[in-house]
Amino acid sequence: MLYAGIAWSVDGYDVEVIDADGNRATAPTHWDAARVPELTAWLAAPGPALEPPHAIVLESTNGLVDGLLTAAGLPVYRADPWVLPQRPDFGSVPALTLAERARTGLASLSALTAEGGGQSGRDDDYHGGIRRSAPYEEELTRAGRYFRHGPRDRPEIALTFDDGPDPVYTGQVLDILARYGVRATFFCVGLHVHTLPDLVRRIVDAGHSLGNHTWSHPFLPDLTPRQFRLQLERTEEAFDRAVGRIPAVFRPPYGARTPEALGELLTGGPALALWDVDSWDWARPGPERIARTVLDHAGPGSLILMHDGGGDRRQSVAALPAVIEGLLERDLRFVAADALMAGARTEGAGTHRGE
Ligand SMILES: [Zn+2]
Repeated sequence: MLYAGIAWSVDGYDVEVIDADGNRATAPTHWDAARVPELTAWLAAPGPALEPPHAIVLESTNGLVDGLLTAAGLPVYRADPWVLPQRPDFGSVPALTLAERARTGLASLSALTAEGGGQSGRDDDYHGGIRRSAPYEEELTRAGRYFRHGPRDRPEIALTFDDGPDPVYTGQVLDILARYGVRATFFCVGLHVHTLPDLVRRIVDAGHSLGNHTWSHPFLPDLTPRQFRLQLERTEEAFDRAVGRIPAVFRPPYGARTPEALGELLTGGPALALWDVDSWDWARPGPERIARTVLDHAGPGSLILMHDGGGDRRQSVAALPAVIEGLLERDLRFVAADALMAGARTEGAGTHRGE
């Protein structure tokens, strides 16, 4: 029986595979973010005489590969901080440590499913973090730096794509957006910006907007303030290297908030952009269902959440033309997420003056 561990670092993923005795079954391998599809195929068939691993283990700070692995039917487990040694401030614990954890303590890990997503089983920490963040959210809102949607009295919406850039799907999304001449915002992860700068340039050259979605798509409740700050700053540096600009907006992975993270944003940095319409495309309910979910809930001011990376996004791509056509039929104008929020800021200032 084999056990695999996947660690993330500044330039991609390290993978270790061990056998039931704890010996290496394959040489350690390294994969950059553009090769996650190949990594998935390799784990499904790691060698002529090797079966797929009995368990593939990731940290809760690595939310970028589980979607593709579970979609391929592979057995993926999440190791939470309390079953691991302390991780470095930027990076995860070594892949060998993760594989060893599966070999000696599989019951202490959480099995992930395609339907449940990367943070299944952490509802208490997720909702607790959001509850404790309320005062910080109010303060950011007063400063005009926290949004779920834009003004409801203008025919404007923002279409947003998270977890890219992706070597397979981002180009397909860009082609469809170009066909309709509509603008969107891409909340990219630093690991992929670092590896696929040409795709980020293509996004910008096509007139779209960028957002920061952290470096490795971590579960925020598991980060220290310093670790959160490094996730943001390293991603800003990758954007700066790729396109010479830094996004004005940030979206937390899974929409998680914590006082520690929001405290870091209070003193400066990007505005926080959540969403008010979730397409649920990541759960892959079928393209028709994705389009219907968006069209049933979207209206003036909506911030619409879809995904171009972090998993099998064929359904998101297939749903996109119907989403765009349905919104265009309502005479809604597609604007960048930061432009939608700038409208909300103006509106907020007007309201304030009237009081
Ligand atoms: Zn995400």
